[in-house]
Formats: sequence, structure tokens, C-alpha cells
Amino acid sequence: ANGIEAWQLPLERTERKLHQSQRQLRFLADTDTLTEVPNRRRFYELATKTLALCAPGKAAIVMFDIDHFKHINDRFGHAEGDEALREVARCTRETLRAQDVAGRIGGDEFALLLPETTVAEAFAVASRVAQRLEVAQQAAQTGLQLSLSVGVVLARKGENIADALRRADQALYEAKRQGRSRAVA
Ligand code: GH3
Ligand code: MG
Repeated sequence: ANGIEAWQLPLERTERKLHQSQRQLRFLADTDTLTEVPNRRRFYELATKTLALCAPGKAAIVMFDIDHFKHINDRFGHAEGDEALREVARCTRETLRAQDVAGRIGGDEFALLLPETTVAEAFAVASRVAQRLEVAQQAAQTGLQLSLSVGVVLARKGENIADALRRADQALYEAKRQGRSRAVA
């Protein structure tokens, strides 16, 4: 039928399956298994592409880290800690726009690239993530009250994502130093 010889059908099926497993492998290589957001490598890849399309000073790079997360693990156990990480990732995904890029770049550390975003808007995004998290945790009634420390920078002319993240990390460090649960630009 349709000019396809009978012997071609198994071949097509094999090709389709191969294509499927390639897509699955790519997803696994790109995604953090616990939180299902892009992993560090994939974040750098996506953010680099997106940053190339942004005018200097027109994109915000955000880095945030859960406050006293070691203590959360110690007090509630590693499984609850994992669940909290998943919740943070979910709240982040639900807050972002389609053009934004997010990734889990370390243990309890996440990064965002927000195109066409000012510092004030990036602060608002971070605060929405934190608010969502608060609501989710109250609903879950686990007694967990996570807070986030946030560092925000605007991309500079000619700056790559690694350099921007380094500066965002310095801002994040300053947020921790100032007492946590806050954002610093
Ligand atoms: P700070 O407020 O300074 O960030 O304090 P902190 O305790 O959060 O310190 P830090 O960010 O350096 O520690 C991160 C901790 O996150 C260390 C590790 O025990 C925990 N962690 C990292 N990855 C995972 C994970 O996949 N699951 C769980 N449950 N814990 C993790
Ligand atoms: Mg931490």
C-alpha cells in the first residue's frame, strides 16, 4: 500500500524506535533527574544561546540557593530534602515565562536567565518563587519553611554566561552575608 514494500515496514519501525531512544537519551543527558529541570551543562548551553539574542543590559541572570538546607536534611531527613528540592524546582517552573531559562546548577543552587528583564522585575520573579514555595509548604503541612537567598545581575556587553553567573554568585553570597531570605543585585 502507498508504494511501500512489505520489507520496508520493519525498517521504518526500527528507525522510529532508534529516533525515540535518541530523544530519550538526550532528555536524560540534559535533565536533572531529581528536579526535572535542565542540569548545569544544559543550562549553560541554553543560556548561552538565549544570551546571544539579548541586547547588553537587557537580560537578568539570577542565582538562588536554599537557606540552611543542610539543617533541613538533618532535621527532616534526606527524602524530605529531596522533596523540598523538587518543590523549589516546580515553583520556579510555574513562575517563569516561556522565553526564560532555568537550571539546577548545584546541590541546592538554581540559576535563571530572564531575557528583557530589569533588576526590579528579576526581584519580583524571585519573590514570586518564594511566595509560591511558602504556599506549597503550608499546604503540605510538613513543617518545612524554606527560604531562598538570591543574587541578581544584568548581563554586560560581551559577557558570557559563566562570567555573569560568577557575578550573580557574588551577589548571592552578599545576600547570605546580609542574613539570608533576601535578594541582592
Ligand atoms: P546556606 O544558607 O549557607 O546555603 O546553608 P546550606 O546549609 O544550604 O549550605 P549549602 O548551600 O552549602 O549546602 C547545600 C546542602 O544541600 C549540602 C547537601 O547536604 C544538600 N544537598 C545537595 N544536594 C542534595 C540533594 O540532591 N538532596 C538532598 N536532600 N540534599 C542535597
Ligand atoms: Mg544552601
